[in-house]
Amino acid sequence: MLLTDTHCHLDFPDFDADRAAVLAAARARSVGRFIIPAVGEQNWSQVMALTNPAAGLYGALGIHPLYAASQSPGAVERLADLLATRPEGVIAIGECGLDRRSSVKQTGQLALFEAQLELAEQCCLPLLVHSVRANDTVASLLKRRRLPAGGIIHAFSGSLVQAERFWALGFCLGIGGTITYERANKTREAVAAMPWASLLLETDAPDMPLSGHQGERNTPAHLPEVLSTLAELKGVTAQQAAEQLAQNSVRLFPQMAAEGSGRGSN
Ligand SMILES: [Zn+2]
Repeated sequence: MLLTDTHCHLDFPDFDADRAAVLAAARARSVGRFIIPAVGEQNWSQVMALTNPAAGLYGALGIHPLYAASQSPGAVERLADLLATRPEGVIAIGECGLDRRSSVKQTGQLALFEAQLELAEQCCLPLLVHSVRANDTVASLLKRRRLPAGGIIHAFSGSLVQAERFWALGFCLGIGGTITYERANKTREAVAAMPWASLLLETDAPDMPLSGHQGERNTPAHLPEVLSTLAELKGVTAQQAAEQLAQNSVRLFPQMAAEGSGRGSN
């Protein structure tokens, strides 16, 4: 079994003290590939420094909506320039999107998201999308600009109708700790009804702790718990689920196929 954590912020300071041990613990639980998304210009270099395809470590570069206000002018142009150099192991753009929680500053979010949609189209890279209370707006933006390489609606939370709409637009659903909470009925039902090909696993570590781990730092070693819950919801074994999910990861990120098992020692 080789699992891919399609969204984990391993560059965050939360992991500075024990990053190697966190990776080792994840690999010991069959999590052998990791995608580390950036949140803004301030961490692009950290993300690229951690990226190492031979060790299953991949990166994404982008600007997260919660960091929109803290970017300096020209950040999108610098992102475009950086992506044009095709940095090794950078396999997606993100994370980017819209966060419509009432407590969050909205200024600049939409323009930044639209600019990154355009970049994803130009670079033909998958897009890692953060969509909080914004699924319908995000879907209409994706409809306007059909992205050639699709992407992932990270930490998907929503209805079956929303899930089907994203999938029809070429976007997979990033399935994380949300489904381990029984109160997340709507999302659990949506995920259970969606085709296997539309699903990918993620932890969003260090955030989004699983049910039973509230208040703890989340790590990619928890990914097999998300897998078990997903397998249970869909009525298959964890092994069967893992095989299907592995195919999905390689389909969306073909570079992963070239790197073998991704079980290097970094
Ligand atoms: Zn994230």
